[in-house]
Amino acid sequence: MNTYIPKYIKAKSRGLLSKKIKQFTAIMTSCTLCPRQCKVNRTKEEKGYCSTGKKAFVSNFSAHFGEEPQLVGDKGSGTIFFSNCNLKCIFCQNYDISVNGTGQEVEDESIASIMLYLQKIGCHNINLVTPSHVVPQILKALDIAVDYGLNIPLVYNCSGYESIDTLRILKNIIDIYIPDFKFWEPNISKIYCHAWDYPQIARKAVKEMYDQVGDLKVNRAGLACSGLIVRHLVMPGNLDGT
Ligand code: SF4
Repeated sequence: MNTYIPKYIKAKSRGLLSKKIKQFTAIMTSCTLCPRQCKVNRTKEEKGYCSTGKKAFVSNFSAHFGEEPQLVGDKGSGTIFFSNCNLKCIFCQNYDISVNGTGQEVEDESIASIMLYLQKIGCHNINLVTPSHVVPQILKALDIAVDYGLNIPLVYNCSGYESIDTLRILKNIIDIYIPDFKFWEPNISKIYCHAWDYPQIARKAVKEMYDQVGDLKVNRAGLACSGLIVRHLVMPGNLDGT
């Protein structure tokens, strides 16, 4: 039995979700959703570094069994892979999706339907992969999906290159943060993801995430309900600065 009530359900019942959607929609008119700070008007289909305008693109969605065990359980993590990315590492394992932008443009209602489908097939959570540049669309979808019974934890699965202001708006919406921490040295992150400020930004972002959700909490079945998981990719030649 699912006894954990996701944060976004409480936020919606307190009227917070619609306020946050308005805040994000306003930010899109001069986009500073992420640290790239492109200041393009995405509501008019202007595109910045993430190559994404008004609507989100989705590459694929499924019950995924390759995530951390606390997310996977026996029915899988309900992953939604968003196309394009605000970081675009040159070694990305999903390069075709993150850099080439493979995927289909989707309405907010379609994202809501995908969330509900993943819940219906038994997934233990909704796992938003590369969500940072499409948080307004995600929250609009969430608003719809809650009305139709969405009630499983929401996972924010990101690169760690996050705006603190955006994260603060996401407070009380996201149940589980699962950021990467990729590099410790600016001269390395500049080469591999065109972001010299990645280390300092990611350090602050992980702290903000932890302040919001704290340590990982699991239910009796060992499945994550809320908290923080940090992933770290070990790279050749100590590029990662481990
Ligand atoms: S979300 Fe996209 S357009 Fe907005 S600041 Fe980031 S990279 Fe630029």
